[in-house]
Order: sequence, then structure tokens, then C-alpha cells
Amino acid sequence: MVTLVYDVVREEEKALIRAAERIGMSLKTVRIGDVVDIDGWEPDVYLIRTLSHNKGIIAAAVVEGNGGIAVNSAHAIATSWNKAVTLAMLKNGGLPVPKTQVLFGDSDVEIKGRAIIKVASGSWGRKVALVTSTEEAKLLLKSAENEVFLLQEVIGTGEDIRVFVIGERAVAAMRRIPPQGDWRSNAARGGVTLPQKIDGELEELAVKAAKSVGAFYAGVDILVGDRLYVNEVNGIPEFKALMKTTGVDVARLLLEALERVRKA
Ligand code: ADP
Ligand code: ZN
Ligand code: MG
Repeated sequence: MVTLVYDVVREEEKALIRAAERIGMSLKTVRIGDVVDIDGWEPDVYLIRTLSHNKGIIAAAVVEGNGGIAVNSAHAIATSWNKAVTLAMLKNGGLPVPKTQVLFGDSDVEIKGRAIIKVASGSWGRKVALVTSTEEAKLLLKSAENEVFLLQEVIGTGEDIRVFVIGERAVAAMRRIPPQGDWRSNAARGGVTLPQKIDGELEELAVKAAKSVGAFYAGVDILVGDRLYVNEVNGIPEFKALMKTTGVDVARLLLEALERVRKA
């Protein structure tokens, strides 16, 4: 049996439940509320789809602790949730990444020209800032002294490619163009999304990136500059915008891949 583990039901979880019905696959669901028991989990395949990454890491670990298979694994979710750890892993995988420094707290920085500052764990383009002076950067760092930040070179215009990887194949991709006056391409920020053809280079980059963090499936973000740079790997990726943009039934492909894992 495959079990969907969730806390909040998003469009993606609804799409997964509908897809399971359509293909006649039995999909159990388990909600992670305020209490999680360490024992009593059947050693099955669990698709970890919590909105809370903390809950996701713990749920995956508990599944694995009971002899089950968590997709993604606790290790992959924990790694991908931290952009600094992710970039280090990508580097190890030989992948091109933006020049990055990790800043702990209110650190001493100097900005020449423009730079990106973002928190190590964030999503939907929140807590990602473009700074143009040292004063601006210092003010930002001072505003959240307990955060870990990344200081990065600016790649291109913020335009990027989201590639969805499932089990070593790139199954769908879209180009994301930031909305007018912004440089953040997140679907949640309302940019334009276009279907993107997947060529060999793109697939190889995305598959290697997912592999670098140990993800069975992932939403890989690739920035478009003078060349391609892997920006982040999302270990509990949303995919409603991707399904809408490309027409690819990502939910169904993911369930079918999980069935193969279960039978293997
Ligand atoms: P999140 O996890 O919130 O999506 P990202 O690191 O993906 O954080 O940043 C959000 C968006 O900001 C990206 O999709 C991209 O458009 C833009 N962005 C992030 N880092 C850079 C960078 N180094 N250079 C240019 N644009 C960037
Ligand atoms: Zn992200
Ligand atoms: Mg992103």
C-alpha cells in the first residue's frame, strides 16, 4: 500500500487523491496533527507531502525507523530544506551553482554592485531580497540575527526553469519569468509560466541535482544566466502550476513511480 502523509490539503494532495481514483490505485492518507507516535507505522511506502518541513523530516524519519520507505527520505527532505546544505551537496555532485557565502547572524559583509540575500530555509520567494548596497545588506541581516542567510551573486534577471524529476527522469519543465518590476520567478508571485522543452542537458542537470540531495522526486530550480546554474532542489515540491502550464499529469506519474517502488 502507498500512503500519502499530509498536514494541510493543498491542490497537489487533492490532485494525487483524484489521480489515484482515476487509475484505480489504493492510496491511504494519514494526517500529521499535533501528535506523532514513533511506533505503529506499517513498513509501507509513504509519500511525505507536509506543508511543514519540520513535520515532513520527522514523519519521514519515523517511517524509516519503522522499516518503511519514505519518499522523499528524511535525509533528502532535511538536505533540500536547507539551501546552504543543498548547494554544498550540489557542488559535490559537480553541478554549477551561483557563487554563495553562508552568513551566520549579523555578519560583516560588503556589497559591491548587486547581490541576492536569502534565508537558508524559505519558500515561495519570501525572504529573498535583492540588495544594492552594504548598508541595505547590513540592515537586513540585523533584522533577523538568528537566521542563517545566503549571500549570492545575481544570475540573469531571475528567470529560471523548474524541472520536475521523478526517479531519474525529468518528466515536465516550465520556464518562469518574473512579473513586471520583480526578479523573483516563483509561481506564487504571479510571473508568467511557459512550457519548457526538456533537452539532454536540462535533464542531466536536473536528475543529477535531485540525486545530489538523495531525492527520489524533486522540483529542481535552474537559473538562466550566461549559462545554467542549479539554484535549489525542492524536496516536497508543489506542482499545480507545472501541471497547468505543461498539461503533464505529474500526480499520476508520481503515483505510478511509487507503485514501482512498492513492488520493487
Ligand atoms: P524560494 O525557495 O523562496 O523559491 P529561491 O532561492 O528559489 O527561493 O528564490 C526565489 C526566486 O528568486 C527564484 O525563483 C529566482 O527567480 C530569484 N532568485 C533567487 N536566487 C537568485 C540569484 N542568485 N540570482 C537571480 N535570481 C535569483
Ligand atoms: Zn524553494
Ligand atoms: Mg525556488
